[in-house]
Amino acid sequence: MRSIHDLTREELAASIPGEPAYRVTQLWEGLYRQFLPVDEIRTLPAALRGHVSALHPASLVEVERVVSDDGETVKFLYHLADGLHPIETVLMYYRDRATVCVSTQAGCAMACGFCATGQAGFTRHLTAGEIVEQVVRTAREARALEQRIDNIVFMGMGEPLANEEAVWAAVERIHDDIGISARHLTISTVGIVPGIRTLAARPLPVNLAVSLHAARNDLRDELVPINRRYPIESLMTACREYLAEKNRRITFEWALIDGVNDTDRDARELADLARSLSPSAHINLIPLNPTPGWPTKGSPRRRVTEFRDLLVDLGANATVRNNRGTEIAAACGQLAAGQPVRITRPR
Ligand code: SAH
Repeated sequence: MRSIHDLTREELAASIPGEPAYRVTQLWEGLYRQFLPVDEIRTLPAALRGHVSALHPASLVEVERVVSDDGETVKFLYHLADGLHPIETVLMYYRDRATVCVSTQAGCAMACGFCATGQAGFTRHLTAGEIVEQVVRTAREARALEQRIDNIVFMGMGEPLANEEAVWAAVERIHDDIGISARHLTISTVGIVPGIRTLAARPLPVNLAVSLHAARNDLRDELVPINRRYPIESLMTACREYLAEKNRRITFEWALIDGVNDTDRDARELADLARSLSPSAHINLIPLNPTPGWPTKGSPRRRVTEFRDLLVDLGANATVRNNRGTEIAAACGQLAAGQPVRITRPR
C-alpha cells in the first residue's frame, strides 16, 4: 500500500486537483521540513488536512519506544499499518547531531547466524515511504529536543541491496527534500554484488559499508551465507567498481567473535583485503553483541583492542565502533522487533 511518504510531490499535487500550488508547498514543507503528520500541518485548512489524511494514511504505527544510554539512544518499535508486521528504528543522539538507523525490510532473508534479524527470517520488503517515514518520525522527535538528524545509516533490519529500488527512492527523498547530504547517508550491505553495481550507477555518492566479518571464503561461507553466491573475490571487484565510480572510501564492518574471526591470521587477511582497495577500506570493528540464537560470545575487550592495534600495525585503517543500546537490544545485529527468533545457524 502506498502511504503519504511514498508519493512524489507531483503525485501528491495530482491527488488534490484544484488546490492552489502554495497549498502543495505548505503540505510538502509540513511533511519534510517540519516533519509533521498531515493533521498537524496548521498552515492548511482543517478540511484539507482531513481530506489528505484520509486519502493518504501514514504507514507506521508506533507501538513502543525504549530508551537507554541516559536518553541518548531510543529504539522505536513500529507496526507496518497494512499487516501489523513489526520493524525497529534506532535514534542516537550525539553532542551536536543525531543519527538514525533505519530498517529496509521487515525481517531479513540473509540468514547470518549471529544476527537477530537473520535468525528471525524474512517477512517483506519495506516501501520507500515506510523507510522515509522512519526518518520523518525520528526527526520529529529530535526536533522536539532541538536536535537535528544529520546522519542516516541503512543498518537496521533487512538487507538494503535486496530492496535497492525502494531504498534508492528513499535516499532521493531524504537527500532532495529532507536535505541530508549524500556523504551523511550510509548503505550497509551483506555483499549483494549486483546491488553494489546498481548502486554504483546511481547518481548520488552515498557511503557504502560492507559487512565482511571474514576475509577468507570458507569462514565467510559459514558466517555470511550469501558469500556462497557472491564470494570475496567478486565482492572486492564490485567494491573496486564502486570506488572507481564514486571516489569515496568504503567501510568494512567486522563483528569480532571470540576465537572465530579474531585471530592474528584473520587480522592479516583483513588488512590485506582492506589495503587491496584504493583508497584503502576503513575497518569498523564491532564487538559481537549477544543475540538469542547464537551461543558464541564476542571477543573480550582486550582482544578487540589488540586486534585493532594489529590492523593498524599492518598499515590498515581501523576503529572500534562505539556501541549503543546493547541493554535494550538496539545495538548492531540485535533488532528482531520482538519476533520469535527462528534459529538458523549456518552449518
Ligand atoms: N543487512 C545489512 C544491513 C544491516 S547492518 C548488512 O548486513 O550490512 C547491521 C550490521 O551489524 C551488519 O554489519 C551486521 O553484520 C552487524 N551485526 C549483525 N549481528 C551482529 C551482532 N550480533 N553483533 C554485532 N554486529 C552484528
